Amino acid sequence: MTVVSPGPGALSLEWGVLIDLHTHSHVSDGTDAPAALVAAAAGRGPASALADGVPRLDVVALTDHDTVGGWDEAAAAAREHGIDLVLGTEVSARAEGISVHLLSYLHDPQDVGLLALFDAVRTSRDGRARAMVDRLAVDHPVTWDDVVAQTQPGTTIGRPHIADALVAAGVCASRDVAFADLLHTGSPYYVRHAVPDAPDAVRAIVAAGGVAVMAHPGAHMRGRIVSDAVIEELAAAGLAGLEVAHRDNDDAQRARLDRLAQRLGLLTTGSSDFHGDGKPNRLGENLTSSEALAEIERRGTTRMVRA
Ligand code: AMP
Ligand code: ZN
Ligand code: FE
Ligand code: FE
Repeated sequence: MTVVSPGPGALSLEWGVLIDLHTHSHVSDGTDAPAALVAAAAGRGPASALADGVPRLDVVALTDHDTVGGWDEAAAAAREHGIDLVLGTEVSARAEGISVHLLSYLHDPQDVGLLALFDAVRTSRDGRARAMVDRLAVDHPVTWDDVVAQTQPGTTIGRPHIADALVAAGVCASRDVAFADLLHTGSPYYVRHAVPDAPDAVRAIVAAGGVAVMAHPGAHMRGRIVSDAVIEELAAAGLAGLEVAHRDNDDAQRARLDRLAQRLGLLTTGSSDFHGDGKPNRLGENLTSSEALAEIERRGTTRMVRA
């Protein structure tokens, strides 16, 4: 059993088992291959990928945006490196005009309804990214090819790839600067993509045997956040939990979300939202309890990959 000595933030409690349920590989907008991400989570990669005081995780989830494309590679790597793996997807949705991300865990990766939803969102993301580049190119030296150069075949394209292209072109100093200056939702270069209504997305996840957890529900620095009423509606549609411990939820939001979860009978989780070198988030910087994970596994259709 791994015991982390008391430290700042989420790690000030002693966690018997280190469980991080939200990460991205280069199958979406992370920078590591799925196998490299899993190796890093198992303590077999660069120590810099892990939060201070975390030697390795016991359980990691792979949750690339709107795809199951990394699942097979991650599963093979988990067996090789001896770490438990929860397979998932971060599903793009919208409620009251606000972008909502739903973590789906342990769904059937061949479910026709969910795969059709992912296809539609990914197609819309491509068109939207091209439209954003068209707008940006009027004022900045960036092309669609520059964005494609930041992706792998099959990658779910998002604003982070446009940010990386802007960095490579010397327009912005970092991903964060690109978001702050050019890519934020209020920017004239911002274009939306077509996504399902959040309650419909929750129902699609549940129909596919998945367990739906709302990602970073209180991340107000990214844009507007949803009201309690939306979370109530999602709970009625089958939402299982709220990702409370996430660096983008401040203390007031965490308190609000804990209260809501208690009232609505929802699980609470904590995760890093690791994106490799693309963001400062480190593996294990926020954690999920083994009780919450046990409930997710009980409700999910796909089995966890066991070390
Ligand atoms: P998209 O889904 O294409 O709209 O891009 C959203 C993704 O960009 C999120 O999942 C984050 O990974 C990243 N992101 C959103 N806001 C920011 C920000 N302010 N700074 C850096 N990354 C961000
Ligand atoms: Zn992302
Ligand atoms: Fe997200
Ligand atoms: Fe994420």
